[in-house]
Amino acid sequence: MKPLIVANWKMNPGSLPEAKKLFSLTKKRAVICPPFVYLAHLRANGAQDCFWEEKGAYTGEISPQMLKRLGVKYVIVGHSERRKYQKETDKIIEKKLRAVLRAGLKPILCLDKISQLPKDIKRGFVVAYEPLFAIGTGKACSPERAERMRRAIKKKVGVPVLYGGSVNSKNARDYIKKARFDGLLVGGASLKAKEFIDIIEAVC
Ligand code: PEP
Repeated sequence: MKPLIVANWKMNPGSLPEAKKLFSLTKKRAVICPPFVYLAHLRANGAQDCFWEEKGAYTGEISPQMLKRLGVKYVIVGHSERRKYQKETDKIIEKKLRAVLRAGLKPILCLDKISQLPKDIKRGFVVAYEPLFAIGTGKACSPERAERMRRAIKKKVGVPVLYGGSVNSKNARDYIKKARFDGLLVGGASLKAKEFIDIIEAVC
């Protein structure tokens, strides 16, 4: 199976023309998750978050159904930055996971501990193992350590497992070929078109 490569642009780039340019260079072989305000313009297939209700009085929120209508297929839930800045708990994240599944979309559940796996959902989603120390720091996890975690996750749930945390074009291959992850979740490096394309070429 071809590795699943997901780009998390976070709150970047700063303008729509820049987003359009980056998207046109990288959209073909990856799931691109841009900020919400660019989604409709780009017709991207990934989103960085969503709310758990379908519609209603939830100021500032976006539902999975709205994303689906735009053509989104994958939704990241539980990213460590949302756990940190928006104080999202495992309970909230599980509600979002269920809502994404109900809408017929594929959740990408980010976690750094096995205890963050949902207790009774065993299928239909993708896990992204993202060790906290490796996210946005340039200090990637060793493939050996990452593989131990991949195996532990696979023992609990039979779903694809991605690695995320300071992935670049030099280390990407190790996570797929050595540590046998099913794909990669790429943050910072997905904002540089050439580097991101090099990552894709290194693993696909
Ligand atoms: C992320 O935000 O999910 C991530 C993995 O970021 P980075 O690649 O920049 O470490």
